[in-house]
Amino acid sequence: MRAQTQTQTTTLLVIGGGPGGYVAAIRAAQLGIATTLVEDDVLGGTCLNVGCIPSKALIHAAEEFHKVRHYALSGAGASALGIHVDAPRLDLAQTVRWKDGIVRRLTGGVGALLKKHGATVVRGWASIVDGKTVEVRPADAAAEPLRIVCEHLLLAAGSEAVALPSLPFGGRVIGATEALSPASVPARLVVVGAGYIGLELGTVYRKLGSEVTVVEALDRALPAYDEELTKPVVAALRKLGVTLKLGCTVQGLNATGDAVRVRDAQGQETELPADRVLVAVGRRPRTAGWGLESLHLDMDGRALRVDDQCRTSMRNVWAIGDLTGEPMLAHRAMAQGEMVAEIIAGRQRHFAPAAIPAVCFTDPEIVVVGHTPASAAQAGLDVLDAHFPFAANGRSMTLEGGEGFVRVVARRDNHLIVGWQAVGRGVSELSTAFSHSIEMGARLEDAAGTIHAHPTLGEAVQEAALRALGHALHI
Ligand code: FAD
Ligand code: NAD
Repeated sequence: MRAQTQTQTTTLLVIGGGPGGYVAAIRAAQLGIATTLVEDDVLGGTCLNVGCIPSKALIHAAEEFHKVRHYALSGAGASALGIHVDAPRLDLAQTVRWKDGIVRRLTGGVGALLKKHGATVVRGWASIVDGKTVEVRPADAAAEPLRIVCEHLLLAAGSEAVALPSLPFGGRVIGATEALSPASVPARLVVVGAGYIGLELGTVYRKLGSEVTVVEALDRALPAYDEELTKPVVAALRKLGVTLKLGCTVQGLNATGDAVRVRDAQGQETELPADRVLVAVGRRPRTAGWGLESLHLDMDGRALRVDDQCRTSMRNVWAIGDLTGEPMLAHRAMAQGEMVAEIIAGRQRHFAPAAIPAVCFTDPEIVVVGHTPASAAQAGLDVLDAHFPFAANGRSMTLEGGEGFVRVVARRDNHLIVGWQAVGRGVSELSTAFSHSIEMGARLEDAAGTIHAHPTLGEAVQEAALRALGHALHI
């Protein structure tokens, strides 16, 4: 006998419990809006389960292992810091358990927050019936199907990894999700794509002991960032022993399936032996498989088109996060989610951030907030820019910080800061100061005239501003 379909009604129905969807649901519930969130998998989406958090956990674990291994390999007396370590060993299963524990704590916390604020969570796969009706196939096959009727429908279904036709996922060809839960460290890892995931996770595996080769179609690594910023990263990767094959296209696996065939710009073909192949060539909005096409919403390429309030082309149907395209970053999804909830509650909000920070958690890290000198010029702005190198920063030296710098970009006429960039160990934490300064309309004089604690990496921020004004003190 066919199970009876139950019908529920709600004011706001959110499809997807990632950082976009769960933040929207929490804020809406806080504001007293009857809210239901449908999530097919574990709450927290890509970010908490198979993205930002697990990758940063493994980056940290790999760095710790690499450090002790470096001390051990450098031999008695060779470590500059006077630290000596004997035969370090990696218990990878424990590393993965530790990472999973962090993920569980955070995803459990999201569930608790939703409950605390009174949002209803339905576990199951949502399919759109029309702009106000969604059918949910419950995760528990024995449970009855559910029909939910809403006033506002918020689409937050996120994105999925792009697959390469020449190297389909399966067997030894894996994506980030599998790379984040390894059962073993492969002796030889080939990474396809020198973007965020390729370089963050490529670095992890190299530090855990794999031989790593990264194949990139374009002629430089991290092509989305300017070359001045990526230079120290590329130098560090080479020093770490990562091989970069730039300007190369992958042709597929060889006949025995244990090597990747790669063609360079001259048409020369080589085989790269591989025990595992990580394909990380981008992500695309998840627009298929849940009836979205039936709404005939306006699209921007593969992404849903939204206005500056995250409204789609259908009244009371909203979309946020990766589903709406680039930049596909968790903090953007969260900010959009919070805003949509407030608009539905009657507040006047627009999504018009002065800048959305981007951080690449390579070693060293890269931060970009606002305009670079090149993007400012493209936008027709007359700007000046100045760098302060970490080589002249005491705190960086005490942390063995190595190469890197902070760069400020400001309008020449009134010194309004329009961009900050940095590359260096630990600079991800400077993104907060950068974002604040741009969002609050700071000028060079504001950054230069603020007392920065000594000794900190942040002093390089003040010094970059001082240098732009022509009177740096420590260089
Ligand atoms: P998602 O997080 O993808 O969530 C969408 C949710 O919707 C999923 O849980 C999915 O199960 C659910 N869903 C989809 N369709 C349905 C349906 N029909 N029914 C029910 N549920 C459905 N970003 C950063 O800002 N910083 C980082 O350091 C960072 N690192 C990353 C590392 C990796 C390896 C990856 C893959 C991504 C990383 N990102 C990072 C990107 C970040 O994870 C995404 O930008 C973010 O998760 C997008 O949030 P979202 O809410 O739009 O979608
Ligand atoms: P990406 O867009 O960052 O990098 C993909 C790389 O693959 C690019 O350099 C591209 O030129 C290259 N490429 C494309 N096709 C190729 C081919 N056929 N052969 C070889 N190289 C090819 O994508 P990603 O690394 O998969 O990450 C996906 C998205 O996830 C990112 O764009 C970002 O939005 C998000 N993410 C963010 C962070 C972070 O914020 N720190 C970390 C990981 C992922």
